Amino acid sequence: MRIVFATGNEHKLREAREIFTGVEILSILEFDKAFDPDEYGKSFLENAVIKAEAARALTGGLPVLSDDSGLIVPALNGAPGIHSARWGGLNGDHVRNRAKLRNDLRGVVDRRAHFLCTAVLLTADADALVATGRVDGLLIDEERGAGGFGYDPMFVPDGDPRTLAEMTPDEKNALSHRGRAFRRLAAMTARHFL
Ligand code: IMP
Repeated sequence: MRIVFATGNEHKLREAREIFTGVEILSILEFDKAFDPDEYGKSFLENAVIKAEAARALTGGLPVLSDDSGLIVPALNGAPGIHSARWGGLNGDHVRNRAKLRNDLRGVVDRRAHFLCTAVLLTADADALVATGRVDGLLIDEERGAGGFGYDPMFVPDGDPRTLAEMTPDEKNALSHRGRAFRRLAAMTARHFL
């Protein structure tokens, strides 16, 4: 089975390929090198659907996978949330995003945070399968580790002393918001296509 993943993020693509075993995950960039739809939605679900529908218009009826995800900090009233990718001002500039987060957290005692992911699979006959995942943890000021992407070097998940960026890809996938959402979606997808 072939599924097109509606992302230009190579880290997410790798994570999807590690989790959807037995499925060929194609990148939407193979269909449109400049794929980058305007994410005007007000929720992770809306933005995941926007990306999936934009991709489906390009893929000639192949099933499409998309996700939208972000970091929620209760002490910052839920920010950066759906704005996580461009929190520092430039879309996908993770260094600036982390610098702004560190700045926002100055003097903040409550460092709890969680990542959320909403994943969507649009099947060829236009059914939509939806799954979500969450991982809770604490934000630290220093950056540790070279793996992962985004806010990973500042995020220490509950139950482990390391940041997500200090983990192997398999270790991160085992507990991450996207790993959880994708595994749920992969199980639903297998049932749907059997
Ligand atoms: P999206 O690609 O529009 O879903 O934006 C997701 C943004 O949320 C990313 O650019 C990161 O800033 C953040 N994010 C989502 N998932 C992760 C993760 O697994 N680790 C670190 N940051 C993440």
